[in-house]
Amino acid sequence: MTGPAPQPRKPVILSVDDDPAVSRAVARDLRRHYGERYRIVRAESGPDALETLHELKLRGDAVAVFVADYRMPQMSGIEFLESAMDLYPMARRVLLTAYADTTAAIDAINVVDLDHYLLKPWDPPEEKLYPVIDGLLEAWHAVGDRAIPYTKVIGHQWNPRSWEVRQFLARNAYPFKAFTAEEPKGKQLLDAAGLDGRQLPVVITEEGTPLVEPTDSELADLLGLSTNPSLKMYDLAVIGGGPAGLAAAVYGASEGLNTVLIERATTGGQAGRSSRIENYLGFENGVSGIELTTTARRQAERFGAEVITTRKAVKLQAGEVGTARTISFEDHSTIGARAVILATGVEYRELSVTGCSASDDANLIGKGVYYGASVSDASECAGEDVYIVGGANSAGQAAMFMSKQANSVTLLVRGPSLEASMSYYLIQQIEQTPNISVRTCTEVVGTTSRDDHLVGLTLEDRRTGERDEVPSTRLCCFIGATPRTKWLDGVVARDDHGFILTGPDLRDVVGWTLDRPPHHLETSVPGVFVAGDVRAESAKRVAAAVGEGSMAVMLVHRYLAEA
Ligand SMILES: Cc1cc2nc3c(=O)[nH]c(=O)nc-3n(C[C@H](O)[C@H](O)[C@H](O)COP(=O)(O)OP(=O)(O)OC[C@H]3O[C@@H](n4cnc5c(N)ncnc54)[C@H](O)[C@@H]3O)c2cc1C
Repeated sequence: MTGPAPQPRKPVILSVDDDPAVSRAVARDLRRHYGERYRIVRAESGPDALETLHELKLRGDAVAVFVADYRMPQMSGIEFLESAMDLYPMARRVLLTAYADTTAAIDAINVVDLDHYLLKPWDPPEEKLYPVIDGLLEAWHAVGDRAIPYTKVIGHQWNPRSWEVRQFLARNAYPFKAFTAEEPKGKQLLDAAGLDGRQLPVVITEEGTPLVEPTDSELADLLGLSTNPSLKMYDLAVIGGGPAGLAAAVYGASEGLNTVLIERATTGGQAGRSSRIENYLGFENGVSGIELTTTARRQAERFGAEVITTRKAVKLQAGEVGTARTISFEDHSTIGARAVILATGVEYRELSVTGCSASDDANLIGKGVYYGASVSDASECAGEDVYIVGGANSAGQAAMFMSKQANSVTLLVRGPSLEASMSYYLIQQIEQTPNISVRTCTEVVGTTSRDDHLVGLTLEDRRTGERDEVPSTRLCCFIGATPRTKWLDGVVARDDHGFILTGPDLRDVVGWTLDRPPHHLETSVPGVFVAGDVRAESAKRVAAAVGEGSMAVMLVHRYLAEA
């Protein structure tokens, strides 16, 4: 015979007051009205109440509301609520105060996210106590007793590393909330972590662990991304985790090659910076670059590819034909691969204006000047007057995206019109957006900074030479790109701009030693292939990069069969 089904335990309302008479009175009134549906638990000091909470937590009980007296000798009500929040972050918080302590209670609204302060005495409870608690219980039930923990990033508006950390998390579609160290919530989080805010940014994980000035590889660990190859030898090593590299990893792994993808930062490449890719086949309403590339990363992993992030390839050693290629990392560790696909894409060129180059003494990058700004920026530019340099689709997409939050967006274009460089659909969208304006034949010739961040720009009309000064705290540059191939100096043949030559383009290049001609995407080193934007004469489009990544795998099979 089975016994009655166990009843779910009632959620708890916990009251704490050091005055036994008051403590009993609160518990009595609460029990009278809520006793049927809630368990009323009372304590007579903060430490006692915390001990009870630990027990409740261990037993898996839910706590809906805390009612804490403000003035308690061992631990004030605010201190208790602060600690209690760590255990039950979603429980609603009420502070009981005497009239004289009203100011402290109001301050507590910021410190502990106080829901309500209740003046003593609360008679009649039907008027003063129950309506308050009813409202809080309703709010608590709306989200349940589940804590919805989230990661917090506390930074400074003009701290470049704070921006980079937010980018890293955003580009991995990792949910977080950002605060500045100056705002009350930011200060409160730093205090709670025992930090004084001198070292920023600080990332506080869902579990409450603070990471002070985390490196990319610490962030990757937080996100559960792999940062170390597990093997010494692979069939295929793909260098670069943009669309071309991700496609190569998906096809390589799905076709049975033991595949590793090496990405120096975070997967996604340039596409991960695109707010909406509208011309990629199969997405009639467009797709965000982050969505496309994080899905692709998971797809590659599902097929068994190892995706390694925050590891930069710094050297490629070719060795004899048919032998393994060796890839070295910054820490001098190496891996071997029977074949390699280079998919290292391009990076933005720097604007040759004071303050806009990493080599300038007064470098404003990350302090108002941004290169290839990514989608997490839209909310960051709320109310600002944003200037975007560039006339290609990437600049147009950024303008559209930022116009949703910015006060105004001005596109600065060197040429006489957008027609030559931007897709027709984007030009139309821009024309129909009232807070975007386009200044053609215009370039940035100077920056003004104050307190180590951008406050203004000097613009020049290329036709008349006239200059004007405009106030701005945000300049985003999308001005063409150069390939990331310096590390391949002397290894694979490249054109005058550094793009890698392949297949038929190698015809006039000395160094090809085999009897057979190079395969289409094969470099001057047999068994080393190229896909995507880094290839000479490539199309510089997502679809082309994806196509080349998958085609390169087909050629890898051919090479391995011959070798
Ligand atoms: C904002 C923006 C919007 C765009 N919008 C569109 C669009 O709407 N439609 C479209 O078709 N195209 C668009 N493009 C272009 C498109 O994104 C690129 O053509 C495409 O991303 C190229 O892919 P890729 O894999 O060749 O290179 P990339 O995307 O550049 O990726 C290369 C990757 O290699 C990594 N890497 C580089 N060197 C190393 C190294 N030594 N070790 C390890 N990793 C390394 C980089 O960190 C990077 O992640 C846009 C580009 C930008 C910037």
